[in-house]
Amino acid sequence: MSEYQHRARKRFGQNFLHDAGVIHRILRAIHAREGEHMLEIGPGQGALTEGLLNSGAQLDVIELDRDLVPILQNQFGHNPRFRLNQGDALKFDFQQLQAAPHSLRVVGNLPYNISTPLIFHLLDNAGLIRDMHFMLQKEVVERLAAEPGGGDWGRLSIMVQYHCRVEHLFNVGPGAFNPPPKVDSAIVRLVPHEVLPHPAKDHRLLERVVREAFNQRRKTLRNTLKALLPAQAIEVAEVDGSLRPEQLDLAAFVRLADQLAAQPSAPTQP
Ligand code: SAM
Repeated sequence: MSEYQHRARKRFGQNFLHDAGVIHRILRAIHAREGEHMLEIGPGQGALTEGLLNSGAQLDVIELDRDLVPILQNQFGHNPRFRLNQGDALKFDFQQLQAAPHSLRVVGNLPYNISTPLIFHLLDNAGLIRDMHFMLQKEVVERLAAEPGGGDWGRLSIMVQYHCRVEHLFNVGPGAFNPPPKVDSAIVRLVPHEVLPHPAKDHRLLERVVREAFNQRRKTLRNTLKALLPAQAIEVAEVDGSLRPEQLDLAAFVRLADQLAAQPSAPTQP
């Protein structure tokens, strides 16, 4: 810990990890190695940063809070493998890291208010990424890792599983953080597929179909997709229109999106 005092800021989602056992467990799950290119989002006061650097990896960090910059520089700036990028990870251009394809290992105990948009921003750069390990709200991890048929299966599960294999690794209670958050947390591993198992003709149309279908998750697909797809196109996709969206797997949604792509009036914008 540094000699500077830093008061946790709510607006930056600052809940700092202080439980050495949990920190160790997370670092073991990540298992950074010498020569790898790591990216830590929101290093805070460096709870995970130190262990990541000790592995011998090259480490870029992105931190939004300017007040944390001197603390981080003071602690790690002497290390030539450490590079601090001050700014908003949601606006960060990951291409500037000049990572080789499928090489970047992304980690972060993420501020919960930005976790979903940040995962989507990262997935726009999925070709650069080898894997991602995040601490998220447990409920979000359950949605990410969900399977069809249950209440957790929805837009987030489908769009993330389109790009990645998802593993819910373990849960972390509020006591591991300072200040403790109001919710339980969990560590998730996301591994982008090198070859998509169910590629859609246009993934923006997949987003469109999934969004539309889950807007009213209690209704049948025939009803919710009425404005997008005629009943016949749903049939050609080999989907039973009397089902509700949570009963469909990813492959079925991709078939619906491909039917949408084949419609004469297919929308070009999501
Ligand atoms: N990694 C540290 C730990 O585990 O103790 C801090 C985790 S804290 C939950 C989240 C960190 O993300 C804070 O340091 C916060 O300032 C930073 N942060 C918040 N919004 C951010 C953003 N948009 N881009 C980059 N960092 C952000």
